[in-house]
Amino acid sequence: MTVFDAVALEGHEQVLYGYDKVSGLKAIIAIHSTALGPALGGTRFFPYESERDALVDVLRLSEGMSYKAAAAGLDLGGGKAVIIGDPRTDKSERLFRAFGRIVDSLQGRYITAEDVGTSTKDLDIVRRETRWALGNSVAEGGAGDPSPVTARGLYAAARGVARFIWGDPDLAGKRFVVQGVGKVGSAFVQLLVEARAEVMIADSYQPTLDAAVQKFGLKTVDIDTVHTVECDFFSPCALGAGLNEETIPDLNCKAIVGSANNQLATAKDAELIAERGIVYGPDFVVNAGGLINVYDELHGYSKLRALHRVDAIYEATLRILETSRDQDINPHAAAIHVAKERMRDIGDLRRFRRSGDDRN
Ligand code: NAD
Repeated sequence: MTVFDAVALEGHEQVLYGYDKVSGLKAIIAIHSTALGPALGGTRFFPYESERDALVDVLRLSEGMSYKAAAAGLDLGGGKAVIIGDPRTDKSERLFRAFGRIVDSLQGRYITAEDVGTSTKDLDIVRRETRWALGNSVAEGGAGDPSPVTARGLYAAARGVARFIWGDPDLAGKRFVVQGVGKVGSAFVQLLVEARAEVMIADSYQPTLDAAVQKFGLKTVDIDTVHTVECDFFSPCALGAGLNEETIPDLNCKAIVGSANNQLATAKDAELIAERGIVYGPDFVVNAGGLINVYDELHGYSKLRALHRVDAIYEATLRILETSRDQDINPHAAAIHVAKERMRDIGDLRRFRRSGDDRN
């Protein structure tokens, strides 16, 4: 498959390769859609085995960002960047500034932020070369780490799911199993404990697990069997593709709400989950809190406004689940449908207005 074939497959608008010989920067930026606004998506710093793997990842992730922004009702398109390299050894000021200049050349068609392998500190450096970098530190006038806000969105989503299943959003007494207690998972656990839910946790990194146990005094479960534990909510907050042909038959939960991106190995796994009678909160709907938070930086960050929008994930999740029930389609398909419909409707309107403007 050539680069052009790959780009044509999902209808991306633009792909840009960036290189800086001195710092060793190798970056790819993918713009999937600007139908609803500038393409916003973080920069992933990852030691991809090949340029092809990096291209496939950035195309897949940027498409996901289009649906996440559209479903959250934001005036944003979908984009993503990847930097090929080891985030532990290959970072430098020159590299991030060179990357910032490449982002700047797109003049706001693509806006970057942090992702796996990049931090607010890195984004502060990128920001020195372009104003199209968000997720900056509070000291630099940004909104800081979005993880606690993502957790708040998950909490709102779990309440929406509870309302859908039991007719009552209260999470007190509900049993949660949280897979991964890193930045988002631990903040989510905190909210659940405060809501008097019953929580069990798992993490593959012992020091992280120990810190969470010490802080919250919770029971732990084995990482290999975490998905089989009986509970009301299974919450994948680690890596993607954890819901697949092998794990879905063993699930022992009533609902799934977690922050991990691309939780489903394939779209048809959403069907397998639905067949088991388990309610799935689509990942890109329930984990949109971080995106909503950085989006707010574009308007001069207001924490109050951002959190208000994040809390609306409750209604967004409920609406998707009701659509899924009414149209007899799985929640993932319902969420994609809602997102694509908005991209088409509002995107068309904007095209029309732009050409009208041109005529005048
Ligand atoms: P993180 O790296 O801080 O936490 C992930 C945790 O998962 C780590 O503690 C890690 O040890 C653990 N883990 C890895 N593999 C595991 C396994 N097999 N079983 C159990 N634990 C395992 O990352 P994070 O920022 O908390 O993000 C978690 C997920 O949510 C990621 O998929 C990320 O892409 C997604 N996400 C994060 C945000 C955000 O605001 N940070 C927003 C949207 C989506």
